[in-house]
This record gives sequence, structure tokens and C-alpha cells, in this order.
Amino acid sequence: MKPIYLDHMSTTPIDPRVRELMIAYLGGAESNTFGNANSPHYYGYEAKNAIELAREKVASLVHCDPLGIVWTSGATEANNLAIKGIANFYQRQGRHIITSTIEHKSVIECCQYLATQGFEISYLKPSSDGLIDPMQLEKLIRRDTILISLMHANNEIGTIQKIEKIGAIAQARGVLFHVDAAQSAGKIPLDLKKWPIDLMSFSAHKIYGPKGIGALYIRTNPRLHLVPLLHGGTQENSRRAGTLATHQIVGMGEAFSIAQRQMHEDGLRQQYLIEKLKNALNDIGNVSINGSTKHRLPHNLNLSFADLDHELLVGALKDLAISTTSACYASPSHVRTNQKSYVLKAIGLGDDLINNSLRISIGRFTTEAEMEQVIFHLKQTVASLRKNHEK
Ligand code: PMP
Repeated sequence: MKPIYLDHMSTTPIDPRVRELMIAYLGGAESNTFGNANSPHYYGYEAKNAIELAREKVASLVHCDPLGIVWTSGATEANNLAIKGIANFYQRQGRHIITSTIEHKSVIECCQYLATQGFEISYLKPSSDGLIDPMQLEKLIRRDTILISLMHANNEIGTIQKIEKIGAIAQARGVLFHVDAAQSAGKIPLDLKKWPIDLMSFSAHKIYGPKGIGALYIRTNPRLHLVPLLHGGTQENSRRAGTLATHQIVGMGEAFSIAQRQMHEDGLRQQYLIEKLKNALNDIGNVSINGSTKHRLPHNLNLSFADLDHELLVGALKDLAISTTSACYASPSHVRTNQKSYVLKAIGLGDDLINNSLRISIGRFTTEAEMEQVIFHLKQTVASLRKNHEK
């Protein structure tokens, strides 16, 4: 039997409706979909039309101008384009950037790179429930601050930041605001028409779309400038060179469109399953939920189990495909254990709890029967590990 998949924050399976559309756009010679979207002929126009429709679908989910959507290879590239692109364009106005200690590696590593290039980075610390305090952020803004980069929902503990409030502060102080929405888009409502946000990163594979495609929203009114990462052709208004991957883009558009139709209903169903798991925790005992229980994504729980031996839990849960931390900084595949979570460390957990933590994230296709199995395995495994621990 295959293990039950509980790692949707790392990636999601493709929705069959997305796959079907992508196959139609993989484009053999007999089709009319294989053209280069930049070519000025029938085949090019067919590809371009499909890409523009996908752009509208992505923009529609987050309520933004489709012209602000720039295709990238994923949220990693979108984060790089936003942070390095703005830093390079605005460096004469200032060289100070604010971010936090619980960002995704693709934000933290960008900032660390910029620090080697003469930029100064301030790292905000979250409270013990994983939330960034907007007032604390405001205190860090200086005359030379050019950018604030924060994630909307955290990829380990699922906490949701007050980005609307932070955006208002950034706008009032004349600082650009970038939000990494890789984990929140398609899970909770986003409204770029109402929220004062200048740049936002997206990824398709977190919401039942293909891997290797994402997008960066760049404010269009007034138009925001940045230095591209890739130099080459004039694709994407010269903001991201390279022939567009029609099938990937069409897949991302469809995934976003399905999310727009189903997000509410999916969220309620997943919340119900997560509540079931939460209720079962009382029977297990000595387990804590990491991150705010109020401001969080509906499909995730990050748990720490006390009274267990060092790092035995994940290995013992063989019937569950589960992780302790973000796949982006797990050790190479020949080593079984992950590196320690810097997110759990940042919210104040000690090594014992970090070593016995689980990031559980369910998805659109997780069933109630599977959740019952998960609860069964968790109860049994923790009880037997604790028995050994007592000996
Ligand atoms: N930001 C966050 C918050 C993420 O969770 C991830 C994926 N782990 C990324 C960025 C990177 O996305 P991608 O895999 O599309 O590069």
C-alpha cells in the first residue's frame, strides 16, 4: 500500500482537469498549439491566445491587472526577480531591505546575496505564534529602505501574516512591498485591487498545477520598474526573456481558475478534516500546535510531540508521506533526516520539540477515510514510541 500523502505544502498532485488541458497544449505537428507565442503567424497566435487566457485566469484569482503578471519558472524565480530586480533598479534611492527570519529560502538567500553586494538587510523576528507585528516592522523603516519582502502564509506552520495592514504601512512610508504568496494563492482569498501590494509571487505546483511554472505580479498603475534577471528576447515586456512554455502556462491558468471556483468549498472540507485530527490530539496528549491557531491556512497543522526519543517519529510513521520541515532545505536524498527547521527555532521551540515535529498538510483529494487512518497511525506510533521512551 502506498503511504497516505500529507505533504501538500511541499507540492500537490496535478488536478486531472489541469493535466487534460496541458496535454492538448503539448503540441505535436498535427496540432495548432505548438507555435512560439512570439511568432507573427497562425501557430504563434494560437499559442499566444492560450497564454493570454491563462494570464487572465491567474489575474482573476488574485484580482489584478493581467498585464501585471509575468511568467517565471516558479515562486523561487519570482522571489528572485522581485527582490533582486527592485534592489538593482532602486539602489540609488536606498540600499536597505526588510524581511523576516521565517521566509522561504528563496527570499532569505536572495537577501543574503544582496548583503554581499552592499545592501543592508533587517530581519524581523516573529512572535511565538509565528506572526509578524506590523508595529515592530514600522519601527525598522528608514529613509533608505526601498523594499519590504514578507510571505503571506508560512510554508511550515501555515500562519497567515497581516499583509493588508503591513502594505498600508509600507505605502504610507513610500516603501515597496513584495509578498510571497506561493502558499496562500488558491487557498485563501487575495485581493490585489484592494490591498496595497506592489509585487506578489505565485507557484502553480502548490495548487494542483504543474511544477516549473509560476508568476510574479508587478504593479501596473503606476507602473513599477525592475531590472530583469534574464536578458535576451523581449518576451513579457522585456521583464523575463525566454520562449514561453505554453503547456505549463495553460496548466497554471487552469489550476488557478479551478481554485477560484473551488477554494471556499475545498477550504471548508479540509478544515473539517483538520479539526478531526485536532480533536484526536487530546487522546494522544503532550502535543502542541505550532503557530497561531487563529490566523492559519485551513489545510495544515504543524505539531510537536513531547516525551519522545530524538527524531524517531517521522521514521516510525512509514504509512504516512509526511515531512518535518520544508523540502527546500531537507538534506540530500541519501540522508534520511531533514535539517532542523529554522522556522520552528525562530518561534522559540527547543531542539527536543523541533526534532519531534510534523508538518501535516492535506489537500483537495485527501479523503475522510484517509484522515481516520492518519489518526489511527499517529495514536499507535506515538503511544508505542512513548512506551520505549519510558523504559
Ligand atoms: N515560497 C514559498 C513560501 C514556498 O513554499 C515555496 C515552495 N516550497 C517557494 C516559495 C518556491 O516555489 P517554487 O517551488 O515554485 O520555486
